[in-house]
Amino acid sequence: MLTSKSARFSPRVKISKTIDQLISVHHELRMKERFEGSFTQQEAIPEDAIDAAVEVMRTGRLHRYNVADGEVGEVAHLEHEFASVFEAKYCLAVASGGYALATALRTLGVGPGHKVLTNAFTLAPVPGSIVAVGALPVFIGVTENLVIDLEDLAEKACQANVLMLSHMRGHICDMDTLMHICDQNDITVIEDCAHTMGAKWRDRWSGRYGAIGCYSTQTYKHINSGEGGFLITDDAQVMARAIVLSGSYMLYDRHLAGPDPTEFEKIRYETPNISGRMDHLRASILRPQLRRLNAQCEAWTVRYKTLEYGLQDTPGLSLTERPPEETYVGSSIQVLLLDWSPRAVREVIMRCAERGVELKWFGSEEPIGFTSRYDSWTYVPSNLMPKSDRILAGLLDMRIPLTFSIEDCALIARIIREEVCDVYQSTPQVAK
Ligand SMILES: *Cc1c(COP(=O)(O)O)cnc(C)c1O
Repeated sequence: MLTSKSARFSPRVKISKTIDQLISVHHELRMKERFEGSFTQQEAIPEDAIDAAVEVMRTGRLHRYNVADGEVGEVAHLEHEFASVFEAKYCLAVASGGYALATALRTLGVGPGHKVLTNAFTLAPVPGSIVAVGALPVFIGVTENLVIDLEDLAEKACQANVLMLSHMRGHICDMDTLMHICDQNDITVIEDCAHTMGAKWRDRWSGRYGAIGCYSTQTYKHINSGEGGFLITDDAQVMARAIVLSGSYMLYDRHLAGPDPTEFEKIRYETPNISGRMDHLRASILRPQLRRLNAQCEAWTVRYKTLEYGLQDTPGLSLTERPPEETYVGSSIQVLLLDWSPRAVREVIMRCAERGVELKWFGSEEPIGFTSRYDSWTYVPSNLMPKSDRILAGLLDMRIPLTFSIEDCALIARIIREEVCDVYQSTPQVAK
């Protein structure tokens, strides 16, 4: 700075003033706390899971149906354990969460020309799975508490006989009312539990209200095998079809959590093999993680509550209300800057980013990362949904990796709070 031309030829007094200003700006910057962690850094795979994976690799038998005489195999064990944790009769492990969703639709006979009700606020693999089987999503709106709008659902219930319910970002709607609406209208429910593995509505697991529950074990979900998924159900025919669909050939009797072989007698000829199996390697690293799931869920929720506490009563910002019936897993947190101008929301995001806090915005015109929304999926015809648009326009989202400490979460809350307050107070046009 001081060697720049203008500075060299400026009068002395001016230089010292500039230096003073620089020092004060520097001071102010230094005073501001910064978060240094990474929002995309998950925990390491636990050592016992690594050992189990190495063991599988030593055998060379990675394909789920490649087992030694009398050996059950990691995948069948995992399915059995998953079914017993979530109190389901049957479980199938597959290649991804999106694959589980499409398979669920296929087992119900959903195909070209059919419509499927689903959330307007969800992740792209959900409408993607519906389109994958040739069907058309019908979007249902989102409420201020970020759950499916049950009034909108009741209105559109006559349009389809399947609902793919996404518990998006871990928010569970009033499941009693939802199931009542669906039962009244003969709607079969598939639950997308990508963000609710380990969550409950009252005393029943999410995934156990609908006919089928689907899960993902992709890196950003609650257990991590890079890619992977599960499908659970109590319906023997649904599971028989799912097993054959996933690519079991005629080896379906090697499933510990599958139905009786008689269930396959007819469907094994009628059901195509649409390969999407899980392998022993991934199953071996999931089994030890499944045993720790409870503790992990608690760790998430403590972090969530720390953030929630730190953000309470921030002017201009609202948090989602979590009903007492809901036992949630706080693996991400959402805040609403409801009715703020886009410019002011952008200002908050920018300032937080400068201090190391990455917020994702579902209201930006261009989807970034995972923040696409119903009107970004132009392969689906949809009407504008002004009530949902108002929510999404103010919706900020933040992942909570377990690599964050509780102190980290308190710090992040302080940063968001300061910046939201500051922008709210200094921008007269925040609330248009
Ligand atoms: C991740 C995710 C899926 C799909 O899971 P993949 O394993 O990535 O295919 C489905 N729904 C939601 C809400 C998700 O976040």
